Amino acid sequence: MSTTLPAPLDDPTYTPQHPPVDGQVPAVVAKWGPRSQIRWFRRFGRELAPRRDWSQYHVHSEHHLGTCCDSCFDEYLDGTGVQLDGWCCCRDQRIAP
Ligand SMILES: [Zn+2]
Ligand SMILES: [Zn+2]
Repeated sequence: MSTTLPAPLDDPTYTPQHPPVDGQVPAVVAKWGPRSQIRWFRRFGRELAPRRDWSQYHVHSEHHLGTCCDSCFDEYLDGTGVQLDGWCCCRDQRIAP
């Protein structure tokens, strides 16, 4: 009897039950937790219609809505910026205003 069965979400054959509808994010995704939303965008992001406003969803980070800031990643590649301090990007909501 095996005790090494993978958790369902670790199973590479696991398929979320809510694919995009007409290139749009199905409404149920907004009700999920941040990590589930990120997982959904990893799985289906390429199948969405272009120039969609994703500002109400956790697309890249559990720490802020919307997509991550590209220029912060560029700064990180240059060896500077907030990502070196452990933040996701300058949109990270944990950064005190
Ligand atoms: Zn970010
Ligand atoms: Zn930024």
